[in-house]
Amino acid sequence: MNQTLADKVKSRKTFAIISHPDAGKTTITEQLLLFGGAIRQAGTVKGKKSGKFAKSDWMEIEKQRGISVTSSVMQVDYDGYQINILDTPGHEDFSEDTYRTLMAVDSAVMVIDSGKGIEPQTKKLFKVCRMRGIPIFTFINKMDRDGREPMDLIAELEEVLEIDAYPMNWPMGMGKNLLGLYDIYNNRVELTHPEDNGDNDFLPLNENGEIEGDYAIKKSTIYTQAVEDVQLLKEAGNTFSEDAIAAGELTPVFFGSALTGFGVQTFLDAFVDFAPNPSAHVTEADETIEPTSEELTGFIFKIQANMNPAHRDRIAFVRICSGEFKPGMDVFINRTGKKIKLAHTTQFMADSREQVETAVAGDIIGLYDTGNFQIGDTIYEGKKAVQFEALPQFTPELFMKVTPKNVMKQKSFHKGVQQLVQEGAIQLYKTYHTEDYILGAVGQLQFEVFQYRLLHEYNAEVEMTPMGSKIARWIEPEDLDPNMSSSRNLLCRDRFDNPVFLFENQFALRWFEDKYPNVKLTALL
Ligand code: GDP
Repeated sequence: MNQTLADKVKSRKTFAIISHPDAGKTTITEQLLLFGGAIRQAGTVKGKKSGKFAKSDWMEIEKQRGISVTSSVMQVDYDGYQINILDTPGHEDFSEDTYRTLMAVDSAVMVIDSGKGIEPQTKKLFKVCRMRGIPIFTFINKMDRDGREPMDLIAELEEVLEIDAYPMNWPMGMGKNLLGLYDIYNNRVELTHPEDNGDNDFLPLNENGEIEGDYAIKKSTIYTQAVEDVQLLKEAGNTFSEDAIAAGELTPVFFGSALTGFGVQTFLDAFVDFAPNPSAHVTEADETIEPTSEELTGFIFKIQANMNPAHRDRIAFVRICSGEFKPGMDVFINRTGKKIKLAHTTQFMADSREQVETAVAGDIIGLYDTGNFQIGDTIYEGKKAVQFEALPQFTPELFMKVTPKNVMKQKSFHKGVQQLVQEGAIQLYKTYHTEDYILGAVGQLQFEVFQYRLLHEYNAEVEMTPMGSKIARWIEPEDLDPNMSSSRNLLCRDRFDNPVFLFENQFALRWFEDKYPNVKLTALL
């Protein structure tokens, strides 16, 4: 089939899954991959109503298709769509990578544990999505367990995250008593125990919002309660608005169980209905580049090192914003003006690591990088230079002093530090007076990776001294008096030589602000 560029772009849905660790991000990702490709092709989904797959099934598919659920970008075909799922590592290894990944997607799926509600990492990631104004879809997970009351969860979501919520479906019971989903959006009831109800998976609802006909489930008080709850939601809840979803002001909420697969396909079907196609991107010159514009443009949002010391290569992840990628094509890197050929260097990170044949707006491609790229770089094909707006920077929260163990190896130490810092996952500061190196990161893991790579890639063994968490605040150079520095607010310079204070804690920051009321301090995001 000869698809036009516009058709191809329309079929793309690129999103990230965000959650607090253990909420079920990996499990739901597996399910989406299963629904999306592998299992469907093998024709096994139908026979397994519970949607529960043995681990070995999954591993076999992983082998066959070469999909790794641990890869950073996964691609599945579903219902005529090409879905690109970007992983955002949760855990305390929270990095700028994670945040920047959110710059490369058009929507986000937020997974919440029904027993726990909104947790800290969810809140942090949510804030970044909100800042971008992208649509956020909520999946309240683990309904096969006894969790918190759905009404409470919705109220908490709205209150803590300051977003309106619209339940697309409503659980009928929970845990062992989960009878199914009252599916408001599809006007039906989806059953967990179809065998008790004439072997139907779905029962349609009549105009009174009740199941028509004589089914066992109708006698249950759980069912009656759900009908009442939904009535209340309809009267007192938010109104459904596609525009509000698109603007990221209203989150559609889905209940389900990633582990048993219950409600996942219902979610996925609605998701592809409402998730946006690849959006236009704005350049620094304030021009808008439409995804269907003919010439290739894209930006690098992440650089990942190969942790295998035998391979020194790195992969630069490009979000394509317009045009069509073809192997062997030439592009320019705007920052350096360098022309490079995207020949045998390109691969998708998921899907069997094959050569990419074609990729359009919304797609992510991985380029082998031998030092040409930096995070935030724009690549373009046309005659006219393009630079997309700068990616946001995030204020590091954890700091480490770093010194070379072997003074004879100063040179490789400095080279390694400079190069690794360029990748953007870690920030470098120097103390204002003594020029000691201090590293700043959003998460602890970044330091460990840094230390490992310095040793294995640059043969530089380092001493790392934790300084704990600090609050970094930048000061305008004209306001600066170097005597303002103290042990509680250490004066440093950042990589661009801008002065920055590292405050010991909130108290130290407030003390400083009281003492110098006319000095303006700024944080990054
Ligand atoms: P992640 O850290 O967010 O990727 O979470 P995982 O997907 O690894 O899930 C964390 C734990 O929760 C695992 O033990 C899963 O088996 C379990 N889990 C995930 N989804 C569900 C669910 O729907 N129900 C139940 N009962 N457990 C789940």
